[in-house]
Amino acid sequence: MSRRCNIRCEGCYYFEGDKQHAEENRDPAAWRRLMQAEKARGVTFVVLAGAEPALVPELCQACYEELPLGTIATNGLIRIPDTTGYRIHISVWGNDATSKRIRGASNMLGRQLENYRNDPRAVFVYTFTPTNIDEAREVTDNLASQDAQVTFNMFSAPVGYDGPLRHTPASLQKVRETTIALLADYPEHVLFSNYNAVVHTHRLGLHDLFACPYPRRNSTRNVGLGRSFRQYRTDLDWDRDAACCVPDTDCDDCRHYAAGSAIVTSKLFRHATDPETFRAWLDYVDTYLAVWVTGYAKGPNLYTSVTEPPCCAP
Ligand code: SF4
Repeated sequence: MSRRCNIRCEGCYYFEGDKQHAEENRDPAAWRRLMQAEKARGVTFVVLAGAEPALVPELCQACYEELPLGTIATNGLIRIPDTTGYRIHISVWGNDATSKRIRGASNMLGRQLENYRNDPRAVFVYTFTPTNIDEAREVTDNLASQDAQVTFNMFSAPVGYDGPLRHTPASLQKVRETTIALLADYPEHVLFSNYNAVVHTHRLGLHDLFACPYPRRNSTRNVGLGRSFRQYRTDLDWDRDAACCVPDTDCDDCRHYAAGSAIVTSKLFRHATDPETFRAWLDYVDTYLAVWVTGYAKGPNLYTSVTEPPCCAP
């Protein structure tokens, strides 16, 4: 949406690769025409992200008026007007001390809550790194006490990133245990399932587990995301070879919640092996819809133990 952001986070995949250098098109009429063309192509859902969409509210509003089903990813420090009725994902990377250190912003959670308290559009997305796992309970408790919804994401390294935020086998296991415990303790406020925990903390990334269907890893043009998905840049152009929901992320390390929302949900047949595995997959889809679609209420999880993905051992 914009090449600009009001903060700068360590490990941000927007400021990797070519897309950060594309020209900015700031004409709402041009974005409106793009949405109309996408609608004519059969597209029904839009995700507005990067670097910070709240800096261009007039573009978000133009998109919403043409394609009203979708989500905006934001750092939550600038409130997006109520007239833009998309789901709003607010990124949280730990407690305030950690946010100050790796995002350079003070009192971040308080400011995010000030902007989005009691806003039915809002979901707080806690991104786990190896160094903030122990802070997740304090942050979840704070969000739940203010009746906010929270879901979980995994830091997934940008291409070439070799810093301390890259997960290890030990941190993956610890995140698995932590998210399952938080889901059990805050069932009214945590949008997640045990199967989400399992697939996003597996030793294999999502592509190796399930074969990613985004154009960047999938040459099929006949059906599904290989045909429909496009990732437009700020100049309203797109590149099939780079097109996925988290461009410039290292596929081998991809455990991102947005990636899984398409990768796992598209693998119905892989999970139609037995009732337990199918229930686990239904929970994942239910979670995906609750996180991404405004007005969709999550149902109770059907599968409450922990199953490995159908393709491989842990
Ligand atoms: S980064 Fe993730 S979503 Fe993107 S192409 Fe690679 S595996 Fe797929």
